[in-house]
Amino acid sequence: MLMLALIACLLPGTAAAGPEKTAVIVIDDFGNNGRGTQEIIELPFKVTVAVMPFLKYTKRDAERAHAAGHEVIVHMPMEALAGKKTWLGPGAITVDLSEDEIRKRVHAAIDDVPHAVGMNNHMGSKVTVEPRVMRVILEVCKERGIYFLDSHTNFRSVVAKVAEEVNIPSMENHIFLDDIHKPSAIRKQFMKMKEHLNDHNICVAIGHVGSAGHITAAIVKKQMLQMSQEQIAFKKVSEVLPPPIPVIPHS
Ligand SMILES: [Zn+2]
Repeated sequence: MLMLALIACLLPGTAAAGPEKTAVIVIDDFGNNGRGTQEIIELPFKVTVAVMPFLKYTKRDAERAHAAGHEVIVHMPMEALAGKKTWLGPGAITVDLSEDEIRKRVHAAIDDVPHAVGMNNHMGSKVTVEPRVMRVILEVCKERGIYFLDSHTNFRSVVAKVAEEVNIPSMENHIFLDDIHKPSAIRKQFMKMKEHLNDHNICVAIGHVGSAGHITAAIVKKQMLQMSQEQIAFKKVSEVLPPPIPVIPHS
């Protein structure tokens, strides 16, 4: 037995390889037929596409992204600390809603986006710090068997803590790629992704389709091609989610 183990250790290619570096690219604001939509769908690597519910192109964008092999999630509009409620889009979650109404809206949003296996927040800097509201949202996600990705629009977010209590798979975004719609600024954010990957095995980054989506899409494509040459793997959110804690049934 010991001999076999020794031989196995000496065989070439059996040495433990270093941990794989994985980048997860999420593209928000689908459902609007925004600029960059087609280019993102045609990317040579798989991404996770966040589709806003109840819009004219919600179903079409979700169907097309899914058909191209990308992962589809619900991009749930949630109230922000700044800005008007009308900017949020239809069916948004605001902190003044009753628990029943939140539950109803989250179910309706999931029903509206075909092929959704997860959810992330559109805006939401006000909602993601409210444990009462987040608990209801995450409980519905759990009921529907979908994960939650915290876009992390507020560093005080309670999503990770509440997700652990509810026991639902969740992760958080590390880097926004295109807060500034300039190619040089987006390239800089990709540099930050690589720096993050020096110290971590996974980096999640969010970009957007929309008014400047064609700029984001072009840089994302170039950078993905380059990073894949540097032994960085691209995965969908569901492929890197930490497994849920197994629930041991009471006998
Ligand atoms: Zn958004």
